[in-house]
Amino acid sequence: MKITRKDFLRLSGLTLVAGGAMRLAQASKAAVQAAMRATGARASQKQWAMAIDLRKCRQRPGCDECMRACNATHNIPAIADERHAVKWIWNEPFASVFPLQQNEYTRLNYTGSPLPVLCNHCGDPPCVRVCPTGATWKSSEDGIVMMDWHRCIGCKYCMVACPYGARSFNFEDPRPYLPRINPEFPTRSAGVVEKCNLCEERLAEGKLPACLEACPEHALAFGDLFDSNSAVSRALAESYSIRRKPELGTAPNMFYIV
Ligand code: SF4
Repeated sequence: MKITRKDFLRLSGLTLVAGGAMRLAQASKAAVQAAMRATGARASQKQWAMAIDLRKCRQRPGCDECMRACNATHNIPAIADERHAVKWIWNEPFASVFPLQQNEYTRLNYTGSPLPVLCNHCGDPPCVRVCPTGATWKSSEDGIVMMDWHRCIGCKYCMVACPYGARSFNFEDPRPYLPRINPEFPTRSAGVVEKCNLCEERLAEGKLPACLEACPEHALAFGDLFDSNSAVSRALAESYSIRRKPELGTAPNMFYIV
């Protein structure tokens, strides 16, 4: 089809109008979120959260059952090159997860015990604010920080914004690195970012997260943080817990019982 100069100018104008409308919508959404933060209003009807009891994790040094379950459930590639690795839940040394919680007099030597880390499904997620395409958002229903891989353009802004290193980029096609494919969950392609989705596909079927079910020590408590009777609320009420970098104001929803 031949496009005349007049058609071209009309299409360009429409594109500019659509782009302007999109930017306006994003700006007003950001303004609403800022107002909610200022008044302390909740960003979602409920907030799924998890408490990881490190006292139980320590009973089984070297355990990686939660990670194995997550990898198998979500088709996460086993890429040996650390620079290209894709991670949803993985082990990190205590010293790098909680750098400000160290002291030489601590009775429990957590420093030598790696602990599981994952996306914190933050109450105020900076990754969401920087995404130019709306490929990641916080669910107003349950507070999960979601991703739509089809909308991800691989700009990596979210990876830079996340202060927890919770997002991975697919530098190459991940499918050759899958030991087996779970047909119930989509595979991804090169050029997109991914991260833990808190097993939203399992929650939709009334199941619990795969990592929690796989834990032989029952170290993970899960539930709605806004419900005082949920398993996570009860676990947090009964024990002392810490969160990662709470001073940044991101309101992480992963808690570590120490
Ligand atoms: Fe976003 Fe990182 Fe918070 Fe997850 S941990 S919601 S990726 S800022």
